[in-house]
Amino acid sequence: MSDGGSSEKGTAEVAAELRRHLAWLADAGIREVEAAPPPAPPAAPEGDPPPAMSPDRGAPRTAEKGCGSPGLLAVREQLGECTRCKLGAGRTNLVFGVGNPAAELMFVGEGPGEDEDRQGEPFVGRAGQLLTKMIGAMGYCREDVYIANVVKCRPPGNRNPEPDEIEACEPFLRTQIAAIRPKVVVALGKFAAQTLLRDTSPISRLRGRWFEYEGVRLMPTFHPAYLLRSPNEKGKAWEDLQHVMKELGKAMGKDR
Ligand code: SF4
Repeated sequence: MSDGGSSEKGTAEVAAELRRHLAWLADAGIREVEAAPPPAPPAAPEGDPPPAMSPDRGAPRTAEKGCGSPGLLAVREQLGECTRCKLGAGRTNLVFGVGNPAAELMFVGEGPGEDEDRQGEPFVGRAGQLLTKMIGAMGYCREDVYIANVVKCRPPGNRNPEPDEIEACEPFLRTQIAAIRPKVVVALGKFAAQTLLRDTSPISRLRGRWFEYEGVRLMPTFHPAYLLRSPNEKGKAWEDLQHVMKELGKAMGKDR
């Protein structure tokens, strides 16, 4: 369960979470699950993060997505209006991350796409909607977890990030993870898994196995965009998420 949040959930919100949970399970072809306990009220965050002014925009960075703790704010301030790699020149928004700054569960994808670049938030397009369903099926809501990418600016034409771009950006992901200190990181897709693990094995071989990244348990699974193209693989992704839920001590759906 979440380590933090902002308000007690109302009936409508719990019902919406339940609907997301059931929708994902139905998509994944899962017909039978053990009852999961309702989400506990989140703990109050420990103090407000100090305000900080953006040197470039004159607006408090705390108002930006994903900066809800002093540690994350420090990482965001360090990035500034980053042009450390060539992706900086083409972005609309630097997509830092989003979610609970004290999340026990973090998802890491590849990089922002067009929707994400425009909105400044990771995983908001079709793949993002599926990720939100996956999160709901695990008994969380999007606000409980933290979501980020290996690179924070959109690669042109949605190409893969190049090695120099990863080298420039990954240190900030590392400090982001250190600031959040999640119990588990889920690497979404081949690219995130191979980058974080420095392992060129195919995702079909990496997924479903536990690894360590910077002292944090890491589980690779399929990227939601791949699952949209290959819905018959959703069952395998669900198995991977079950491992994660078990690691986090949450109720598990039964194997199909
Ligand atoms: Fe900076 Fe990362 Fe954007 Fe490159 S991708 S410009 S390193 S924030």
